Amino acid sequence: MAGLFEGKRGLITGVFNKQSIAWAIAERVMQEGGECGFTHMPDKPDDERKKNRGRVVKLVEDNPRCKFLEPMDVTNDDHVAAVMARCEAEFGSPASAGGIDFLLHSIAFAPPEDLKKDTVDCSREGFKHAMAISVHSLMALSSAAKPLLKPDASILTLTYYGGEKAVPGYNVMGVCKAALDATVKYLAYELGPQGVRVNALSAGPLQTISGRGAGVDAMLGLYEAMAPLGRNITHDEVGKSGAYLLSDMSSGVSGEILHLDGGYNAMGSPGRLLQGI
Ligand code: NAD
Repeated sequence: MAGLFEGKRGLITGVFNKQSIAWAIAERVMQEGGECGFTHMPDKPDDERKKNRGRVVKLVEDNPRCKFLEPMDVTNDDHVAAVMARCEAEFGSPASAGGIDFLLHSIAFAPPEDLKKDTVDCSREGFKHAMAISVHSLMALSSAAKPLLKPDASILTLTYYGGEKAVPGYNVMGVCKAALDATVKYLAYELGPQGVRVNALSAGPLQTISGRGAGVDAMLGLYEAMAPLGRNITHDEVGKSGAYLLSDMSSGVSGEILHLDGGYNAMGSPGRLLQGI
């Protein structure tokens, strides 16, 4: 049976290491026959070991479905343009009967000193930096990719419940996720006439580098106790739901925030936690 992504090609951003949500989704997409171009954070000029690149190379080097690996700081317009030029060289554009079928945005950052502060005390610079990387980057990538997106292409970003409700400790990143959720809806409206879908996957806590910085360790026990399923989600599950939203299986779904959290967001009280079960 042909895989879900057979003949489909696209761009995956946000792989830092094996634990990254972007990697869980990319693995599933490639297992299902998709071909992917990847980006990684550029290495610092004095980092002779090229650790950022090296970590991703280790993951993709033996996989023939990885078509390229390019450095990209998403706040640098030249980097974004270079990545899109590479996408066009590898995948073509709708003008040449090719183009991008899927685009994964799995990027977020807030300066640790601001992330740790109560939102009320967040600095102006920290706020701007967090919003530029975690929110505007979705606009920048979508805008740059627009001429290359196939008429039924799918754009997916990663969000978190802390953008809908106050989650103590998530702080400025919650404000970023609220803006990201709104961005998904505006982009869905604006790119809809081109046939392009834009959605977000709202994942429950997962052990990743960014997740640990945003306080997931404290959240894991709470989700286990409160979520209807009584457990946390897995990397495999985030891979499956991500692949669903990037694939034609979700055609007709756009502007959606899909919660993948064992049902945690459905609860209006601590439930079993209150009953001591
Ligand atoms: P991760 O650290 O593996 O991924 C974050 C990625 O952002 C990294 O690859 C990093 O290199 C990239 N990045 C940061 N600044 C960048 C920049 N300037 N330019 C380009 N790339 C940059 O962690 P993750 O948990 O896989 O995070 C991916 C997404 O999932 C984020 O948006 C995060 O907020 C979201 N998310 C995570 C969780 C969780 O519990 N881990 C839950 C819900 C949503």
